[in-house]
Amino acid sequence: MAKGGVAVVGAGPSGAASALLLARAGYEVVVLERARFPRDKPCGEGLMPPGVAVLRRLGLLERIVATGACRLDGVAYTHPGGSPTVFAPFPPPPGGGSAWGLGVRRLSFDAELAAALHREPNVTLLEETTVRGIHRRGPRIVGVQTSAGLLEADVVVGADGLHSRVRRLAGWAISRRSPARYGLVGHWHVHTADRTAITVTLAKDHEWYEAPVGTEELLVSTLGGRAYAKATAQDYARATRAEIPSLLHAEPIGVQLAAGDFHQRPEYIARDGLFLVGDAAGYHDPTTGEGLGVGLQLAEALSLRIDDMLTGRTSPEEAAARYARDHDELWRNRRRVTALALFMAAHPAFSRRAVSRARTRPQTLSRLLGINCGYYSFLRLTPLDWMTLAGV
Ligand SMILES: Cc1cc2nc3c(=O)[nH]c(=O)nc-3n(C[C@H](O)[C@H](O)[C@H](O)COP(=O)(O)OP(=O)(O)OC[C@H]3O[C@@H](n4cnc5c(N)ncnc54)[C@H](O)[C@@H]3O)c2cc1C
Repeated sequence: MAKGGVAVVGAGPSGAASALLLARAGYEVVVLERARFPRDKPCGEGLMPPGVAVLRRLGLLERIVATGACRLDGVAYTHPGGSPTVFAPFPPPPGGGSAWGLGVRRLSFDAELAAALHREPNVTLLEETTVRGIHRRGPRIVGVQTSAGLLEADVVVGADGLHSRVRRLAGWAISRRSPARYGLVGHWHVHTADRTAITVTLAKDHEWYEAPVGTEELLVSTLGGRAYAKATAQDYARATRAEIPSLLHAEPIGVQLAAGDFHQRPEYIARDGLFLVGDAAGYHDPTTGEGLGVGLQLAEALSLRIDDMLTGRTSPEEAAARYARDHDELWRNRRRVTALALFMAAHPAFSRRAVSRARTRPQTLSRLLGINCGYYSFLRLTPLDWMTLAGV
């Protein structure tokens, strides 16, 4: 007999991982997803090494790799015109394990996760089912109103992305940061066998990101302010060719997608029987590309906290408080790396000096990647690292 019932809103990576883990912990899980898979999602499609580790623990890594996902060994930072450039490899995880990430095409990555949900005993995935309301008994949230009717549950998990409707329905305020940043995402027909890194081009008021996501498919996204994103969207192919010379003779594939107003911090991430996970639990900026990995890691913490709560090992209040701490621990140092990356991106004089200096000391950037992977804290940066970043 199931230990209880959980409703998960959203079958993106965070919702899918949460549902799989809760089902494996003995719960009956219903996942409500408004889209039908395969569905696309604007994303830089770079899964950092800790996210790969979660896929391995879930037993899904081989299937994901088989979809054509590309191994990523690190990040190359460059500037318009191609110089200065430096490559920083992902450092090894302190506890052992592999140091590589994956370029994952969201169309196939998310579809593979959805297929895992369909295979999993104790999980029911309802596609094309939209959550429109939350159901309360007193202050507690005990279910959701969906386009297919009412679903009652012991716990509701909001995994419905950046602009979470569940979070809004719960009445939880969010803080935003101005000016907002936006992203535009496209794909190009490019032979990617010689690409094993994410390439970041720092171009003053915007950045470009390239990641191989298939043998013949390169993701090319750009991030910047609203006016920049709007202007670039008018002729994405021309703007991309103008700033990324290697794409001069390449052709874009399919349509471009946009997303934005990234910085969202909710006042709660768990309360009254509702737990948020992934982007719904708050997000900062895609510049350092950790949303997917953190969402998967947070799903692991979420399933433990919900299990503790529903088996009576902790009170609901304690489970919510511990989960908020898990969330904070995952993000605290990463937020600082993101702030540093945004500063560099906005100040090319600094980023050029830092990248030039890092060519002889790439370990500084590898250490930053390690902090961004959650391997160690910001205090790990040495005075020499700070000098490197200052271009000295
Ligand atoms: C331009 C850009 C570049 C990025 N680059 C990277 C990167 O390189 N690496 C990285 O790790 N991350 C990156 N990110 C972030 C990453 O895309 C997110 O962190 C990740 O998708 C979060 O996953 P999630 O499962 O929380 O939410 P999502 O992937 O957004 O999934 C939410 C799901 O909920 C469903 N849903 C929404 N509302 C409802 C409803 N009412 N009822 C039912 N279902 C609903 C949606 O259809 C969707 O399937 C980037 C994001 C952007 C926008």
